[in-house]
Amino acid sequence: METSKFDKFLRQIMGSEIPPEACKCAACVASVNEPNREIRQDLHDKEVEGLVEYLLRLYGYCLTGDVRAHILILKSVKAGTVRAY
Ligand SMILES: [Zn+2]
Repeated sequence: METSKFDKFLRQIMGSEIPPEACKCAACVASVNEPNREIRQDLHDKEVEGLVEYLLRLYGYCLTGDVRAHILILKSVKAGTVRAY
């Protein structure tokens, strides 16, 4: 099923439009000393796609109620902030 708008939304909320220089994702932090911007952008794009795939898998588990997979979901938040779920 084509879900181009939802896919675009997921990429946006996972940082696809953030330039690597301003991004704090794991790939951008790890490649901060990489002088080639294209390489940094490629690493950033792969990180974003990985995050989107993770969200889709997580949503799939939630929507189907399939409990065959045993997963642990951790959410990292900034120190001093409060999150309720
Ligand atoms: Zn990044």
